[in-house]
Amino acid sequence: MNCDTCDMAMRERKATRQKPYRYDLSGLSNVSLVGITMHTCPQCGGEVPVIPRIAELHDVLARSLIQKPTLLNGEEIRFLRKHEGFPAQKFAALLGITPEHLSRVENGHTSNLGTSADRLARAIATIAKDGEAAREVLLQIAEQLAEPQRPVQSPRSYFLKLEQQHWKAAA
Ligand SMILES: [Zn+2]
Repeated sequence: MNCDTCDMAMRERKATRQKPYRYDLSGLSNVSLVGITMHTCPQCGGEVPVIPRIAELHDVLARSLIQKPTLLNGEEIRFLRKHEGFPAQKFAALLGITPEHLSRVENGHTSNLGTSADRLARAIATIAKDGEAAREVLLQIAEQLAEPQRPVQSPRSYFLKLEQQHWKAAA
């Protein structure tokens, strides 16, 4: 493998704890990878990492974020939201905040979501991890919650219908 810039043959090294690969491409500024192969150019010092199993890597990273003992910062929330496949508008609706507020937090203009929304964001990310079906339900809820001009508390009746031995929510 040759360097893109100087066409020199690159050397191989393993990323170590002392000299890790900073994974800025994740959108997180404090994630480092260790144990992967790096191709290093002896001329310009340019480095090209070999990152296998990226989906698994992002999954492990998301789990670490969900378990973080302190409030998530903006880039951590953005990573979780994107990793679980939520558009900003829908994620904000699920958290009960405005898209503008979510954007301010994700961009670092506001330091965090506050305790309740922070915990809710983690819960949503955890549920979405359970698979596509859980994610779909959350997106449907988001769609309903995002409908504009909805009264804060509209009275509503619920009809439950027994149909062929199974209960169903009826419209
Ligand atoms: Zn080079």
